[in-house]
Amino acid sequence: MALMTGAQYIESLRKLNTRVYMFGEKVENWVDHPIIRPSINSVAVTYDLANDPMYEDLMTATSNLTGEKVNRFTHLHQSTQDLMNKVKMQRLLGQKTGSCFQRCVGMDAFNAVYSTTFEIDEKYGTQYHENFKKFLTMVQKEDLVVDGAMTDPKGDRGKAPHAQADPDMFVHIVERREDGIVVRGSKAHQTGSINSHWHIIMPTIAMREDDKDYAVSFACPSDAEGLFMIYGRQSCDTRKLEEGNDLDVGNSKFGGQEALVVFDNVFIPNEYIFMAGEYDFAGMMVERFAGYHRQSYGGCKVGVGDVVIGAAALAAEYNGAQKASHIKDKLIEMTHLNETLYSCGIACSAEGAPTKAGNYQIDLLLANVCKQNITRFPYEIVRLAEDIAGGLMVTMPAKSDFESDMVVGKNGETIGDICKKYFVGADNVPVMDRMKVLRLLENLCLGTAAVGYRTESMHGAGSPQAQRIMISRQGNIEGKKQLAKDIAGIK
Ligand code: SF4
Ligand code: FE
Repeated sequence: MALMTGAQYIESLRKLNTRVYMFGEKVENWVDHPIIRPSINSVAVTYDLANDPMYEDLMTATSNLTGEKVNRFTHLHQSTQDLMNKVKMQRLLGQKTGSCFQRCVGMDAFNAVYSTTFEIDEKYGTQYHENFKKFLTMVQKEDLVVDGAMTDPKGDRGKAPHAQADPDMFVHIVERREDGIVVRGSKAHQTGSINSHWHIIMPTIAMREDDKDYAVSFACPSDAEGLFMIYGRQSCDTRKLEEGNDLDVGNSKFGGQEALVVFDNVFIPNEYIFMAGEYDFAGMMVERFAGYHRQSYGGCKVGVGDVVIGAAALAAEYNGAQKASHIKDKLIEMTHLNETLYSCGIACSAEGAPTKAGNYQIDLLLANVCKQNITRFPYEIVRLAEDIAGGLMVTMPAKSDFESDMVVGKNGETIGDICKKYFVGADNVPVMDRMKVLRLLENLCLGTAAVGYRTESMHGAGSPQAQRIMISRQGNIEGKKQLAKDIAGIK
């Protein structure tokens, strides 16, 4: 099958029997649900741009498995150029959607699982790599979205998986059969899970022998028997339920999505298993997936950052403040921070190297430095955007006020007239354009998109301390001490 279009992707979701719950109820038609649909639209852009000749080079690649043209989101990176193209593609999509477009977690899982299964098989003579290659060939041919799911709820952080009071705090094998395994547990805050055709599950931490049953990786369809999802709330999400209220939503077309994915004794046939007890490889899979996803943020957050900077510059213009030197300086600072993040994404890609399996991996130290900066700079970019935008971003009346014809003034002015009169900005700028850009900023900094741009910048792909541990492991302080000794003449 050729590459799907965005419209074909959306239709393909309708064929799934994915079980979705929101606000305590089952959502039957989740594809058209106003809270969910914007996140589906974002994923659809990953399809539409791949069919656009202008973006073909970035959005597609040649599969090493089939020799055919595939969407880059299903590709195994074959060079440092592929790694850099991945980051560029993510920046482009962030620019086009102003949100999380969700498909990267699968791409990062493909690359981590491909190389790790190769090394598990090498040590144990297992069949996991072949299983995975077969699975990915199907994904590439059918141009599917796969959710890469790693994060377990973890329960008591001071205890290992096997030592938890409730054994389900980490996904684990509850039964081993001739033809497969039965798994139980859940993965929390999973990006794009509802919008994915399949899921790849990976362990979330390095493990020891006692945790053998928790060292498990596999693929399963999103509508597998026993699997269901509970939708995550986002700030201001119910504005999307107000019919025709595109203004107050800020970005009515696109959004991100997270959910709790529950495995209530799900059967996984042998052919979809990529790890089942090889606990000594759990850490490798985690480290590689996290490394790829830390690289990813050097692309997607930068693209969304471009939209934040553009919106802040527009807000300044609509306020009539664009010539003030401090505004110009703040935009320079935002750009400097954003491009520093991009530099990290490109650098860890350019310094990548092949794995034993042949696909390319990023430089882990630089990818962790990239993500550590991501835990900080978007916050500063948002602070500056709010500084430039002014308080109206969070105090303006609703769209329905601007449109109200209820007479409230002594001279017959309506609520709409009053709002338009007092919220006007620079001469010749339509008042509603000023409101639109402020609502967009609200969405990006505090609203539904802030999940992806702010808090996910902190915790997605691992919280800041996880990167600091990797930086300390990879930083080679001993080697640096030797450099100092050599120059100082210390024997
Ligand atoms: Fe992709 Fe960024 Fe969303 Fe992760 S947060 S899935 S890298 S867009
Ligand atoms: Fe993420």
